[in-house]
Amino acid sequence: MSSSLLWEISKPGRIGINLPKSDVPETDPTNHLPDGMVRFSGNGLPEVSEPQVVRHFVELSTKNYHVDKGMYPLGSCTMKYNPKSSERLAALPGFAYLHPFVPEEFAQGALELMHRLGEMLCNIGGLHSITMQPSAGAHGEFTGLSTIRRYHESLGNPRKKVVIPDSSHGTNPASIVFSGWQPVEIKSGPDGCIDIEALKQHLDEDLAALMVTNPNTLGIFEKDIKEVAAMLHSVGAQLYMDGANMNALLGIVRPGDVGVDALHFNLHKTFSTPHGGGGPGSGPVAVKEHLAPFLPRPAVVRTEDGEYRLNWDMPHSLGKMNAFWGAFGVMVKAFAYILNMGAEGLRKVAEDAVLNSNYMMATLKNYYELPYETTPMHEFVLCGEPLKKFGVKTLDVAKMLLDFGFHAPTIYFPLIVHEALMIEPTETESRESLDAFIEAMIKIRKIAEENPDALHNAPIKTPVRRLDDVTANKQPILKWQDINI
Ligand SMILES: *Cc1c(COP(=O)(O)O)cnc(C)c1O
Repeated sequence: MSSSLLWEISKPGRIGINLPKSDVPETDPTNHLPDGMVRFSGNGLPEVSEPQVVRHFVELSTKNYHVDKGMYPLGSCTMKYNPKSSERLAALPGFAYLHPFVPEEFAQGALELMHRLGEMLCNIGGLHSITMQPSAGAHGEFTGLSTIRRYHESLGNPRKKVVIPDSSHGTNPASIVFSGWQPVEIKSGPDGCIDIEALKQHLDEDLAALMVTNPNTLGIFEKDIKEVAAMLHSVGAQLYMDGANMNALLGIVRPGDVGVDALHFNLHKTFSTPHGGGGPGSGPVAVKEHLAPFLPRPAVVRTEDGEYRLNWDMPHSLGKMNAFWGAFGVMVKAFAYILNMGAEGLRKVAEDAVLNSNYMMATLKNYYELPYETTPMHEFVLCGEPLKKFGVKTLDVAKMLLDFGFHAPTIYFPLIVHEALMIEPTETESRESLDAFIEAMIKIRKIAEENPDALHNAPIKTPVRRLDDVTANKQPILKWQDINI
């Protein structure tokens, strides 16, 4: 079946399910509902059989690219494989059907899970207290920075600016502005790390914090992080670490130990819960003890008699950061993942993620350019400049990778690398799939030399060819229309 829409195959009276006759007496809805809210004609939904529905959605799912289908080496986004056993656990009725307003005494299991997960994350981060409320990484950034702002306010001066290296994640500057500060960018040094001299220029009483992504978006570990922390602390400023991507650090470096004061995790990256189209996010924020009073409330606490409670009694808290308590289903999956892996397993995640990335980089740097020679961590950034002389851009490389059956890496980011290709293989790929990706990249490099037009025309095997990104951005069509795409 082609990709006809369900509306197009609809036949009046066709149904997918037999419901028993209603035993609720029919009443006239106009007696109960306000004028204008009663519908007198059909609802316009397609009338189709169960096999038609199943085939329709299976067909769509095979058109989509996802990590259950193939490798997804999207730099900075950690598209690792997500274990299916975690899904089963999150779907257990006791977790899945729990109402957020259920009294605490009937939600002890859920609260215990949140509390224990929080403790494990604090342990992993080397930090003291945590909030599970933020629903995404960027939401975590805003929460963590707002916590720092409250802290500064409590000392009488909210301060004015936050320093941000030019290798930080794209969401960082926006979070700084949202939190009421001016972002001040400093350039990375030739080794791709924070330039200490540049930082020195901004060390004063107006500096609220430095916000660092570590490893940074070049995939490089900030080797001077301890020195940076000490410099910041000497003027009362805080070190915020964007820990969305902890894949290189798990069990190896605890950010709190190297001077980080606040950090968010992305459970939907490092802790293997589906994200993007696959599920909601969760961006818990962990902090050192001095920042704990300012975290969002309620905090999940354990009482002396071993019961779990929501503690609202936090007079310095910045308030609530979520309608309820956070993305609970995601927490169940992350908790299951951490327990499954254990401490040793998590360390192995980091070792394998770094090994896989270096394995790929070692070959690919001979075919593309490696702009920073520093050993990368869980991801690395190549530069597509050498292909320009054949009239081929990084975008073309990314498009042809689709024809080879791979999701494209992140491209044109970080901004400090021209024609950037940011590749993160993750630890869940086998040697064979790493080799297949390397081989595809080498072939593409050869095609660029021999037949650049083939690259300009890619992809040719995907359900849709090259999309008009600009129009899609400027004039998006967001609902179904009777057109054949
Ligand atoms: C993904 C990511 C973010 C943003 O996380 P969202 O959940 O997409 O809001 C922030 N920082 C880094 C380093 C990331 O990789």
